[in-house]
Amino acid sequence: MDDLYREVIIEHYKNPTYRGQLNPHDISFADNNPLCGDHIQIDLRVDAEGTVTDARFDGHGCAISQASADLLIEAIVGKPLESIKRLGKQDVLDLLGIDLGPVRLKCALLSLKVLKAGVYGLGEASDELVEE
Ligand code: ZN
Repeated sequence: MDDLYREVIIEHYKNPTYRGQLNPHDISFADNNPLCGDHIQIDLRVDAEGTVTDARFDGHGCAISQASADLLIEAIVGKPLESIKRLGKQDVLDLLGIDLGPVRLKCALLSLKVLKAGVYGLGEASDELVEE
């Protein structure tokens, strides 16, 4: 294993807490990272107050993409959608606890891109969602 991968990333990759799908769900979005072949789908349940009551991710790809999805879901269950809209690149890097080069950054940010596109109700995910 590459030194780049911290133990927490391996753990979330091998034993994700939030892998799966939610049916029914209130929000569902999926996208992929063609540079690496990562694919992430995120399903959310949201209550009348706009709070995420449950969430799951599904997909495949490298350890960084899958671990960041699990860490991100863990961070947003119980949170209002409004706070998810404010999440950015640094929040994901803080969850992962490592610095990443530009290629790996795309892997790490895929789940946030999918999540925000779903929360905003967009037709497609754009990199601008995760640039800040
Ligand atoms: Zn990747």
